[in-house]
Amino acid sequence: MYERADRAGGLLTYGIPSFKLDKKIVDRRIQLLLDAGMKLVLNCEVGKDKTFEEIANEHDAMFIGVGATKSKYASISGEKAPNVYRAMDYLTNIQRKNFKEAYDKKFDFKDQNVVVVGGGDTAMDCLRTAKREGAKSVTCLYRRDELNMPGSKKEYKNAMEEGVDFIFLASPKEIVLDESGNAIAVEYVRTTLGARGEDGRQRMEEVKGSETRVNADVVIMSLGFDPVVPSFLAENGIETNSWGGITLNEETHETTTAGIYAGGDCYRGADLVVTAAFDGREAARSIAESLLE
Ligand SMILES: Cc1cc2nc3c(=O)[nH]c(=O)nc-3n(C[C@H](O)[C@H](O)[C@H](O)COP(=O)(O)OP(=O)(O)OC[C@H]3O[C@@H](n4cnc5c(N)ncnc54)[C@H](O)[C@@H]3O)c2cc1C
Repeated sequence: MYERADRAGGLLTYGIPSFKLDKKIVDRRIQLLLDAGMKLVLNCEVGKDKTFEEIANEHDAMFIGVGATKSKYASISGEKAPNVYRAMDYLTNIQRKNFKEAYDKKFDFKDQNVVVVGGGDTAMDCLRTAKREGAKSVTCLYRRDELNMPGSKKEYKNAMEEGVDFIFLASPKEIVLDESGNAIAVEYVRTTLGARGEDGRQRMEEVKGSETRVNADVVIMSLGFDPVVPSFLAENGIETNSWGGITLNEETHETTTAGIYAGGDCYRGADLVVTAAFDGREAARSIAESLLE
């Protein structure tokens, strides 16, 4: 396994907070694989530290599981201010801190007013992490209502119990900056929900003239993820679809290039641990069968 980070495990190690997933469980699983003979190459970004072609030449089959961690943007003004952060940068740095590794101290939000934009599970993880890190106030801005939140109800309930404030039906319009260019507030408009659209979700309309602000010392943007599409995919005939997901034979998990398999978030888009594990298992079965032929 070639891994660009300094620890294996992907989002199970550096994304999912340790209060949700004890890292000892991940370490144990990696150790079981090492004991079974897996060779692990850390700090090795495929396409940069070692070429994809080199690895393909050295092995009989390959599995790509590069995930989907490219943050989506809200495309609003002020989003690039120095104290506006991406959810993954925040969670990764706090996990580094928990591992007692070097981390960027700007992510210490103790006694700060934190605003998180977004309503999915990753937003809940940021809210709860900020609360546990001693933030003065932690507020979630979400453009739909409680019933339409994309994440799990359990995560929302946990965040409520831990003292997170929620502002529903609030669509962010601008990150308000001070004279030095730092974020000091998030301006949002109120929304209403109407009839359901073709996707089954209620249509959202903005209420004109309802602009309001919530003050913030730091803002975390948590608007979901897109797959990372490394250039080595196209260079090796591995096709991706319109949103960047790797195209697979659904039965065998083989990509459009023979002998190269894939699965997990880089195939499904940001999803779940169980579906990524399922893809890995199914691809492993196909690889084993193809090598026995
Ligand atoms: C904050 C957060 C919380 C979540 N909570 C849950 C939860 O509670 N329950 C749940 O089921 N799911 C949860 N998920 C989703 C779950 O973590 C993912 O669906 C799952 O980890 C996907 O696995 P994967 O192997 O496809 O990708 P990842 O876990 O993203 O792993 C991809 C790995 O590939 C490495 N990599 C990428 N490019 C290269 C390269 N070029 N060379 C070498 N290595 C590379 C990355 O460093 C990473 O280690 C959460 C996700 C996030 C972001």
